[in-house]
Order: sequence, then C-alpha cells, then structure tokens
Amino acid sequence: MIFHENEQRWNDWTWQHAHSCKDLSTLNEWLEKAGSKNPIPKKHFNEITSSYRMGITPYYFSLMTRYDESDPIFRQIVPSNEELNILPEELIDPIGDENPARGSRPLKALIHRYTNRVLLIPTAQCAVYCRFCFRKRLVGDTAHNAREEDLRAAYGYIQSHPEIDEVILTGGDPLTLGDQSLLTILKALERIPHLRMIRIHTRLPVVNPFRLTPELGEIISTLNKPVWVSAHFNHPQEITDTAREHILKWVSLGIPFLNQSVLLQGINDSASILQDLFMSLIEMKIKPYYLHQADMVQGTSHLRVAQQRGLEILKELQGEIPGYALPHYVLDRSDGSGKIPLQNQWI
Ligand code: SF4
Repeated sequence: MIFHENEQRWNDWTWQHAHSCKDLSTLNEWLEKAGSKNPIPKKHFNEITSSYRMGITPYYFSLMTRYDESDPIFRQIVPSNEELNILPEELIDPIGDENPARGSRPLKALIHRYTNRVLLIPTAQCAVYCRFCFRKRLVGDTAHNAREEDLRAAYGYIQSHPEIDEVILTGGDPLTLGDQSLLTILKALERIPHLRMIRIHTRLPVVNPFRLTPELGEIISTLNKPVWVSAHFNHPQEITDTAREHILKWVSLGIPFLNQSVLLQGINDSASILQDLFMSLIEMKIKPYYLHQADMVQGTSHLRVAQQRGLEILKELQGEIPGYALPHYVLDRSDGSGKIPLQNQWI
C-alpha cells in the first residue's frame, strides 16, 4: 500500500476525488513508492496533457500490478507518447455529437440523437481521464459544464418533447457531482410526466466505487422512475471486492446495472480476458450491454483493435458463455447517426 491514509479517508469518495493524480511529479512519486524504477519522462508529457489532461484516483492507481504499458490499468490511464501520433482519418468528434447537419445538439447540455431518448450532460468533469475517451474534446474543460440556466433549458426541451421517454445522464461523469446537485437534477427529471426512465453512465463504480454510498443509493431507489446505472468496466483487474460490495449494495436496493466496455488493444483484445470480464460482471449482477469498437478519436490508434479482430473474438466467445453474458459489439457512426451492430455472418 503506497497511500498511508486511514481506512475512513481511503473509503471516502470525496477524498479519492480530491487526491486524484493530475501532474507528472505526483505520478512519478506514486510510481516510485510503488517500486517502479521507470519514471515517466518529462519529454512530451506536457504537450500531451495540455490538450488532454490526466486524472487518476488513488484507488484506481492501486489496481495496477505492473507499472508500464503491459498493465491494463496503466495503459488505460497513463498518458502515452503514442497519443501524439494523429492519423489523418482520426477525428476530434468521432461520433458526430456536434454534426450541424444533423442538429443533434440543440442545447449546450443536451444531445438528441435518437427520437425517444436524449443525453443530458450536466458536467464535463470525470474522476479519471481515460486515454481512449471519445469525448476528449470536452471532458475536463470547465467551460463545458452545464450552468443552471443550461439545465433549465434542457428540462424545458425534454418537457416539450413528449416522444422522449428516457434521459441518459452522461458527460463527463455525472457521479462526480455532489449528492445535492445530482438529486436536484434527478428530482427535476422525476417531475416530467412522460419520462419513463433515467440512466446514469458512469466510470465511478470502476475508478472510485466508494461513490456508490448507501445514502445516495437509498434516495435513487425511492425516485418514482427507474434509474439504471451503466458502468464501464474494461478488464477483470478492475473488478475488486470493494467494487463488488458497493455495487451489490445498490443492486440490493433495486437499482439495475448494465456495463459498457471498449475493445482496447493490449488491454482486453482476447476472448479469454473478455470471457473472464463478462462472467465476473454477471456474478456482480451487472448485464454486459455493449462492447464498443473504439472510436476514431485523435491519438488513439495504439489502443484501437481492427474490426475484423473484434469479430473473431466475438466468434470465439459465442457458445463459451451464456447468451445473456454476451454484449452487443457495436460501432458508433461518425456522422452522429448512432450505433450499428457489428456481427458475424452465421448462415
Ligand atoms: S470516464 Fe468516460 S467520459 Fe470520462 S474520460 Fe473516461 S471515457 Fe471519457
């Protein structure tokens, strides 16, 4: 254990959040304490993090077992010089959130891509900054946080579109908001009669599971609309007793969980790793929902897996795990028109 905090502070999600590693000297200090003999060189680090910041919670750092690119946690979260390699086909907005031709971002805090559901972006802040993030262009930038008037405009929009039956809180990571801010949003949504459900997309169960406090879970479970949580586990090394305990507590309160993974080179691009991941999720009562083809986001070619390889992995998994444990392998189209399934032809 490299962090000499007492258990109470370690288990406090706000402590984890406040002590996130954001700079090179802290990162190298942590690496040295963990026994690594390979500090991250300064060269290029500032260049990389000036366009896309770094953030690592102490808890998530503690899940590393090796301190180089061969470790699946390290590879997801520590900036790599390979991010400077930007290919001509890579994009700033790889899933077309902002495509003006589609007009799918009618308001600052809202994306309306599918008829019956919208994304609500209350914050652009995350607990960690994943190196493969498809919203690199906005996450971590306070200018993209929604102000009160942006949220009010979003509620008004949803209210005036009776065809919308689901709101997905995303970002950024909505669970980085304090309880009061989050509950204000959930209560406002609860009052919209035609809304049938709310979803929260979050990486906190993976990188700071202490955020799933029993108090917040109790309140969410008493809302008059079902709230589904979509977590974001990518590797079995992320599934810990701590994560399991906190998630199962919320599940016991009646809050259902889904999981979205991204297929990532050198991290989870093998059938055996994914089989272990999906079955471990099922054991935690989380339904593996999507396996995403990594988006064509700038500076991420070292993390992307060829679609053909993804299909081969899916073929290997078919029959090895129960159907309900096998997620849909999907690709988000770059024009903003949404997801399409990537499937093997069986007949
Ligand atoms: S938590 Fe999600 S939005 Fe935030 S950096 Fe990671 S992938 Fe991007």
